[in-house]
Order: sequence, then C-alpha cells, then structure tokens
Amino acid sequence: MMKTYKTLKGECLCAQVSWEMTGPYKFFGMCQCSRCRKVTGAAFATNLFMKSDQFKWLTGKENVDEYVMSPPNTFGNAFCKHCGSRVPRFSAGRGWMMAPLGSTMEAPNIKPTLVCAEDHTNWFTRLEELL
Ligand SMILES: [Zn+2]
Ligand SMILES: [Zn+2]
Repeated sequence: MMKTYKTLKGECLCAQVSWEMTGPYKFFGMCQCSRCRKVTGAAFATNLFMKSDQFKWLTGKENVDEYVMSPPNTFGNAFCKHCGSRVPRFSAGRGWMMAPLGSTMEAPNIKPTLVCAEDHTNWFTRLEELL
C-alpha cells in the first residue's frame, strides 16, 4: 500500500514568503552543531529535507535573500528580507531542499534524527534539571 503524505505549508513571520512540500521526505534532522545553533538562535535546528520537485514556493520568493559562508563552506542561511525569518534553502552539499520545520505547525510523518548530539549545549540537555 502506498503511504500517503499530506502537503505541509510553511511561511515566514510576516507571511510574505510561503511554501509547500510533500513527502516522502529524505531526512528530518534536529541538528545541534554550533552553526545551526547560531543561525537559528535556538538549541537546535529542525530541518526537513526533500527532493527539489517535492518543494514549491507559493508566495514571496523575490523576498528571499541568502547568506553563504566563504568557500569551501556551503553552509548558509536563507531568510525573508522583510522579517528576517529563516526560510527554505537548497542544500548544495546534499542536493536536497531544506526547510525549517519550525515554520509549519504540522507533523511531517517522519521521525527526527538528532544530529551532532556531541556538540550540544550543556544548558539544553540539562534543561529539565534546571527547571
Ligand atoms: Zn517575512
Ligand atoms: Zn548543524
């Protein structure tokens, strides 16, 4: 039986940039590396990966700008020029589209994988003890 995937929609804070995506997804990474922490300002990034043809910009693609680190790095950040929210970006390293799952409220029907767990922030893994 074919697994069905509902279409997930995401948008930036000001809602000028919006997109939709459909599974099957390649990877759902919760990455704790220092780059992902800096780029999100959070304890980890929630990135959903898919092939380009499973992704579609709906509105505001002209409002998307991108920062890419100096070569040979391919790490970068795509964001809405109006509100600064992180938005999807083509991941040249993997050849997949990468979308910040925090911008959609729906579950992607794929289990997350913790990436770079050894690079975690001490305050985050001890959060329950601290509270
Ligand atoms: Zn925006
Ligand atoms: Zn990372």
